[in-house]
Amino acid sequence: MIEWRQIQRQNFTCWKKLAEFLELDPVYFPAILKDSHFPLNLPLRLAQKIQKNRWDDPILRQFLPLEIEKEIVPGFQQDPVGDFEARKSSKLLKKYQGRALLVCTSSCAMNCRFCFRQNYDYETQDKEFDEELERIRQDSSLTEIILSGGDPLSLSNETLSRLIERLDVIPHLERLRFHTRFPVGIPERIDEGFLSLLAKTNLQIFFVIHTNHPGELDAQVAASLKKIQKLGIPVLNQTVLLRGVNDHVSTLKELCEKLARHGILPYYLHQLDRVQGSSHFEVSEEEGRALIAQLTELMSGYAVPKYVKEEAGEPSKTPLLDSISSACN
Ligand code: SF4
Repeated sequence: MIEWRQIQRQNFTCWKKLAEFLELDPVYFPAILKDSHFPLNLPLRLAQKIQKNRWDDPILRQFLPLEIEKEIVPGFQQDPVGDFEARKSSKLLKKYQGRALLVCTSSCAMNCRFCFRQNYDYETQDKEFDEELERIRQDSSLTEIILSGGDPLSLSNETLSRLIERLDVIPHLERLRFHTRFPVGIPERIDEGFLSLLAKTNLQIFFVIHTNHPGELDAQVAASLKKIQKLGIPVLNQTVLLRGVNDHVSTLKELCEKLARHGILPYYLHQLDRVQGSSHFEVSEEEGRALIAQLTELMSGYAVPKYVKEEAGEPSKTPLLDSISSACN
């Protein structure tokens, strides 16, 4: 089997090569941003799902840097969710009671244009997390650690294993959550080594993936996640509501149905975090509420995600519509 890092080397990082692969009409080239600080990074298997020469393809739209990102739009900021204020150390964020988030890497399997952490000032030298582990050990209010980034699955199995072993022996910790988009781009990342390190820990793991469009999920992605589910680990999904990607009820319904079919719980539908350069993705909260209301009529309650937004400094995500109270089916 080809090792996942080899597959990752096939990612598109050059817009010209991607344009050639997608047979994009040169008329579109001036609209492509060529020198973004947050560069193009797109796994080959996702590029293969993009329709040839379709400029408004919902998968392409999520990953292709555009000139429009340079527009300064009031209300759109470098750090829209208050990560900087929540920092306890360079890699540890604490926003909410009982849990803390470890920014364990700057790397991702793909670079999403709407990522709220695209301007994050990552510390990339220290791979041992000594300071963060000491802070977690000293804060007995913590019961859950979220491995995020970047994407925690960018780390090697060896690094992850060392980190989880050290978290495992902190007495007040009960749960470990992964936030990852890796399996959607490179499902081969769920390899034997990764599965065995998940199986070893005494912490209850929750595995949270991120998909925005039903086209991102296929049999191979579902099969890789099934291996995790077979370990007794719940797999959940987060979606960002994005203009031109999933702002139709039919698209959201297809996505939630696909997730439910594979036993993946649609967890959150996030209102866009207003990071600079992402305003063209924004869908109004009013439209979002209407979409969730329609979904609620069409689907079982457990298959309708909670529609939320993150507001800097708030003690929890802000619900934009309580899908549970309005749906008892
Ligand atoms: S995978 Fe997640 S962390 Fe990485 S760029 Fe996309 S949204 Fe951001």
